[in-house]
Amino acid sequence: MDDKGLIQVVLGIHSPWFVKDINLNTSGKKMDIHLEFIKGSRFPCPVCNKLSEVHDTKERTWRHLDFFHYESYLHARVPRTKCKEHGVKLVNLPWSRPNTGFTLFFEALIVTMSDVMPVSAVADMVSLNEESVWRILAHYVNKAVENVDLSEVDTIGIDEISVKKGHQYITLFYDFNEKRVIHIEHGKGKDALKRFKKVMEDKIKPNQIKYISMDMSPAFISGAKEYFPEAKIVFDKFHVIKMANDTIDKVRRKEQDKNKALGKTKFIWLKNPENLSEREMKKLHSIKNLDTKTAKAYQFRIALQRLWSIKHPYIVREYFNKWYYWATHSNIDEIVKLARTIDKHFIGIMEAIKRNLNIKDHTGSRMKNIVIR
Ligand SMILES: [Zn+2]
Repeated sequence: MDDKGLIQVVLGIHSPWFVKDINLNTSGKKMDIHLEFIKGSRFPCPVCNKLSEVHDTKERTWRHLDFFHYESYLHARVPRTKCKEHGVKLVNLPWSRPNTGFTLFFEALIVTMSDVMPVSAVADMVSLNEESVWRILAHYVNKAVENVDLSEVDTIGIDEISVKKGHQYITLFYDFNEKRVIHIEHGKGKDALKRFKKVMEDKIKPNQIKYISMDMSPAFISGAKEYFPEAKIVFDKFHVIKMANDTIDKVRRKEQDKNKALGKTKFIWLKNPENLSEREMKKLHSIKNLDTKTAKAYQFRIALQRLWSIKHPYIVREYFNKWYYWATHSNIDEIVKLARTIDKHFIGIMEAIKRNLNIKDHTGSRMKNIVIR
């Protein structure tokens, strides 16, 4: 068997398709496989399956699995059939679903990898942007959910993820009880909730949702009130702590202009003291001794997260009141603002604590417990 025949077999390509050419670009570490169909072939109309003449062709490229450390691509002129009934349509291809730039093999790899590592890491490993990885996941998650019974779902979680450095958003919807992702929507805020409700209308009745857990953004809150008016809006630990971490970072960025020691410390402040390496711990202590606002903001976050280890609801409230007093007298504007925001939403935070609503490995960007499994 020659190279072309071998590649044809591993790609699973059958007549009328065949491998016409293979180019190995050693300087670009790239392999290009050109596919062609036998001249004069007829193809099924994608709507009615009736064999039809080829009207014209469109040049297309698909990313395929790497060939060792070479990125590999399929190229083909895709025929458009002219069916008497349905007009001119691009034909279905055995190696790819319509309108994607990836082969089915490549997409399967992405889905499998996303089950065990964060989407950002998957994107890095295959040199693809995060948004494309999310697009692939959205397709497969949303399709898999079609066959899942969601009539028992009564608590959902919503998570907004920014991709492309904040220019694009993805919204994840979780089934809290089963701890799995049930829907991925492009965009964010109220519109994402509206589309979720619409897409799920056959599977989830709006009044079956008792709790919606989310961050404290006004857009999600107003969307939840409008589209799921009977659900209680709650705020789980993950989202409260994330807001506290964002606050620390705001304080740090403002302060590092005056205090260079704070440069490159963003990730230290995200950790709890017990998780810091020896080097990080040293750094943290040296900054604490400089009496920075950032170090103080960090202490407020550490104190805040003790809320979730208190068992009795009455003591939770008492503890928070003390924290609130302390925070609003901190002389750090960002911490005062954080305290006021948390106070304003405290009923929803208490409710989540009472119901023990928390997804443990809820890092947002990790697709663990993807519904596809
Ligand atoms: Zn047709």
